[in-house]
Amino acid sequence: MIKHVGIIGSGTMGSGIAQVAATVGCLVKLYDTNTEALDKSKAALEKIMARLVEKGRIDETEKTRIQDNITYVDSLKDLSDSELTIEAIVENLDVKKKVFQELESYVSKKTIIASNTSSLSIASIASALKKPKRCIGIHFFNPAPLMKLVEVIPAIQTSDKVLRKTTMNIQNWGKTVAVAKDTPGFIVNRVARPFYGESLRIYEEGIADFATIDWSLKSIGGFRMGPFELMDFIGNDVNYTVTETVFKAFYYDPRYKPSFTQKRFSEAGYLGRKSGKGYYDYS
Ligand code: NAD
Repeated sequence: MIKHVGIIGSGTMGSGIAQVAATVGCLVKLYDTNTEALDKSKAALEKIMARLVEKGRIDETEKTRIQDNITYVDSLKDLSDSELTIEAIVENLDVKKKVFQELESYVSKKTIIASNTSSLSIASIASALKKPKRCIGIHFFNPAPLMKLVEVIPAIQTSDKVLRKTTMNIQNWGKTVAVAKDTPGFIVNRVARPFYGESLRIYEEGIADFATIDWSLKSIGGFRMGPFELMDFIGNDVNYTVTETVFKAFYYDPRYKPSFTQKRFSEAGYLGRKSGKGYYDYS
């Protein structure tokens, strides 16, 4: 079983994945270029752990053990002893490729280099590496500690050994793995595009406001969260970029057409919960 895990990006997903790995006993190094993001991640974990103690789910010893399993680092080189690295940075192919190239120069030949991308081609990310067969997609859902499902996506370059080892380890982290082909949006994010897209179109056509659409889907459709609540939770910037990527990757199939409303919200910094304002106000 893998013990040393490196995580790149201490935002929403990187922090959640770090918590999952640290909880099962992995020694995690969490790296970000932005030291404020590292501080925020550490503070958020402290809060989550304190709440779990309060609820009696873990005790103080367990809290300390989990927190001590995570080291916050501000240099990519610090991940050199990782057996598995999971990248969760901005959803931009060129940026991810650059980080992967640099990372490969620090880690051992055996290190598995994974991306948590929601929509980008794993084959394309893998092509940046000298040893692309070590590259794989490991797609956690938000919030990573609570969501059981993890999509594991082998690229056409990925070796069977890397797929087997990755699947085994992620299952060992208490997750249910669905192996998906390297196609835009994989399984869940492809199904989810029309859910968000059609909701945004209903709003744009003046049929109903955000709250009415959310309320209808929750009370009639049985969804736990409405589409606008969910977009605010995920982050409008992240959600918009995923839609744009899937739309382009499917050769501009109108089924996946992005929304101007969401683009403007994203450009205005109305990102959702993380910025304090999205379709709803969180301040
Ligand atoms: P986020 O904006 O919350 O966090 C990204 C972090 O990466 C930031 O802290 C930023 O400082 C850091 N970063 C940016 N460039 C970097 C670099 N070059 N090196 C190191 N750190 C860098 O984003 P997120 O929501 O956590 O998403 C991260 C990835 O996970 C994306 O690929 C996204 O598509 C995917 N994803 C997101 C969700 C979600 O619900 N938010 C779900 C599944 C997958």
